[in-house]
Amino acid sequence: MARALLRSGLVSETPRVDEERLFSQLMELAEVREPEQPGWTRRTFSEPYRRSRQLVRELMEEAGLGVQVDVAGNLLGRLPGAQAGLPQIAIGSHTDTVAGGGRFDGMAGVLGAIELVRVLRAAGQGLRHPLLVVDFLGEEPNRFGLSCLGSRAVSGALEPHLGLRDGAGETLGEALSAFGARPRELGSALWEPDRLLGYLELHIEQGRRLEEAGVPLGVVTAICGVERAEVRLTGRADHAGTTPMGRRRDALAGAAELVLGLERLAAEAPGGVPGVGTVGRLEVLPGASNVVPGWSRLWAELRSPEPSWLERAAAGLEAEARRVGAERELEVELEWISREAPVRCHEGLRRLLRDAISELGQSQLELESWAGHDAALVARLCPAAMLFVPSRGGRSHCPEEWTEPAQVALGVEALLAAVLALDRAGEV
Ligand SMILES: [Zn+2]
Repeated sequence: MARALLRSGLVSETPRVDEERLFSQLMELAEVREPEQPGWTRRTFSEPYRRSRQLVRELMEEAGLGVQVDVAGNLLGRLPGAQAGLPQIAIGSHTDTVAGGGRFDGMAGVLGAIELVRVLRAAGQGLRHPLLVVDFLGEEPNRFGLSCLGSRAVSGALEPHLGLRDGAGETLGEALSAFGARPRELGSALWEPDRLLGYLELHIEQGRRLEEAGVPLGVVTAICGVERAEVRLTGRADHAGTTPMGRRRDALAGAAELVLGLERLAAEAPGGVPGVGTVGRLEVLPGASNVVPGWSRLWAELRSPEPSWLERAAAGLEAEARRVGAERELEVELEWISREAPVRCHEGLRRLLRDAISELGQSQLELESWAGHDAALVARLCPAAMLFVPSRGGRSHCPEEWTEPAQVALGVEALLAAVLALDRAGEV
């Protein structure tokens, strides 16, 4: 029931988004996983990931796409446009997962895009613009601590990171080569902004706002910025029995204060601007029950779709670190590892998505994304926007991650309507 196709005048009969076909392919892809890991794990550079991309490649070819792998390892399926010389419309997402991940995060966007192509071709009518279906390499953070490998490469931002090393000393560049990519050929952006009309990404929400509102589709306003800091606290290791409480320089107690300080300042939302802060990792030395901790290290993360919140929280964390250091006689070093600014989704593409959803007669919500996405990197090159479908219970990055087959199919319908509108308009 691709009503948008009917309305566009391209077809007289309505080809359908095949909900069952799409869903069975999602389940088939999920089965290609790391058997020793929990859930539906398929991490970047793993053998199952390599095999799964062969499957995605075959699905692209069966759908009639001309398939290529670029130097960064992105899987690209091309559908030529009817009119020569027009820029391409890009759609897609990723198919890698976190450890213990689910079956929809990323996959819904890639397999949904391939289903969209099948529906278009069943209608017997192509687009004016070339269509590019992308399965970006490695969107989730990997053992090198970097996320969005493929989308970084297309926007020219991967090359500076090729020297990153994993725990075993291998570099990211070496891992990419072993996976069949050609990192030596990376440099400036792989995609030319002039050759792109826009990028649209269908994704699961990974939160609970759509479900709680009882709304099937969400248009993303902004993708949150993420800032990560490493904080090292140095005190003095001492005997835990003979050192009186007032004479200690306890690096773990200082870290604990900092963890709670971050929790407090992240909960503040001046002017209604929201953000979140997390300490997800902590190390303590020497790590013995009878020794006052002399050294600790923690990793703090801040997220918000609003630059002003990030600025305030980052300054707050630095101030808190200085205060803890001074009060507890600890040496505190704070180093920002990465500071990714929030990205606003393109207003013209958002309007297109909102209109497409209205055209389908569906309700919608505008919402921020609190997770990072490939679209944030692609937005450096060309207009980019995202469409969300609900996640049951807001669960994601876990085996329970779930979106109803009909909800995924409706997402593809809306994406199709938006692609058709973009193709007609030729500009945003
Ligand atoms: Zn994702």
